[in-house]
Amino acid sequence: MTSAPPAIEVRSLTKRFGETTAVAGISFSVPEGSFTTLLGPSGCGKTTTLRLLAGLERPDGGEVSLGGRVVAAPARGVFVPVEQRKVGVVFQSYALWPHMNVFDHVAYPLRVRHVPSAQVAQRVRSALEMVQLGGHTKRYPSELSGGQQQRVALARALVFDPSVLLLDEPLSNLDAALRTEMRAELARLHRETQVTSVYVTHDQSEALALSDRILLMRSGEIVEDGCPTDVYERPTTVYGARFVGAANCLAASVVEIGPAGATVRLGTGDILHARADALSTAEVGASVSIVIRPEDVAIAETRDGLTNVAAGILRRSTYLGSHKELLVGVGDQLVRVRAAKNLPIADGGSVTLHLPADALRLLVEK
Ligand code: ATP
Repeated sequence: MTSAPPAIEVRSLTKRFGETTAVAGISFSVPEGSFTTLLGPSGCGKTTTLRLLAGLERPDGGEVSLGGRVVAAPARGVFVPVEQRKVGVVFQSYALWPHMNVFDHVAYPLRVRHVPSAQVAQRVRSALEMVQLGGHTKRYPSELSGGQQQRVALARALVFDPSVLLLDEPLSNLDAALRTEMRAELARLHRETQVTSVYVTHDQSEALALSDRILLMRSGEIVEDGCPTDVYERPTTVYGARFVGAANCLAASVVEIGPAGATVRLGTGDILHARADALSTAEVGASVSIVIRPEDVAIAETRDGLTNVAAGILRRSTYLGSHKELLVGVGDQLVRVRAAKNLPIADGGSVTLHLPADALRLLVEK
């Protein structure tokens, strides 16, 4: 028995705009029914990748297949346009027409596909119910809030049962409270429809909250690829560690590598141990970055009986209600620490940091 092809398969996909390489030969595949996020800073190539999947851009090289059908392969002269791809697209700007009411917006993809009008009414109704806009069919975009407009765009993208739903920063025009509400709404919609979704965002918390899988992009390439816990807890690049969850990255040199783990030295002379699987590739004497999350660093009362400690000076502490965020100077480096809100140490005071071995990763800058 042959298994079903992935919903999306991308091979060596490349797109250039003049001198700029927006997408630099990336490959990935997306299983049926999953929620995959393209994450990264502005200009890294996320939107271009999404537009290439949709058929809104033509690639310069590589291949895109949807459900096993090749839809773009410039070397073979294949290009299937957007209207023949069965993809629903939701844009950041909603892309609603001011003169068209809610019903007509959602009906539009069915009408261009010549669906009989009796079916149109029923399918529009159920798509609007799915996004909880059942009672608003006669309203125009100017009579809807931003969140409601985005729901119309979602209903329009889902109404014709697309095989793939592509979402480009759909929440970024909403205020913070509405963004959180719509994020939950998107998660619910995905659970209910199980439609294969690819989501573009620069917001790491959205990516962590919504995705089965995160592809982190940098300069047109994919630099991290994994489920949210892998990308957050086991980043393979310093860039990934910094972008997702803003990890501390401290320069150190490798002193020893053994079966039990690796030993590294900070510029201050403090010695730290890490587990064997913390180190990807490095040799004794190599420079590495020690990666540790602010919530994994502890303030110790004393060095006695502890290993993996480093001496520091509290440079600044900020009270944030639930906790304090500390900036601790260790030699010429700064370590961010999430500490108890009642920590009694004043700015300028000495602190001992405990950096537990199992919370450290050692990465070689790429
Ligand atoms: P943002 O979050 O700001 O939209 P992004 O990660 O989605 O960023 P892209 O929009 O894919 O990035 O852009 C990738 C690169 O390609 C950028 O350098 C951008 O300036 C360039 N680019 C994108 N579209 C075009 C275009 N139509 N013409 C010229 N250059 C473009």
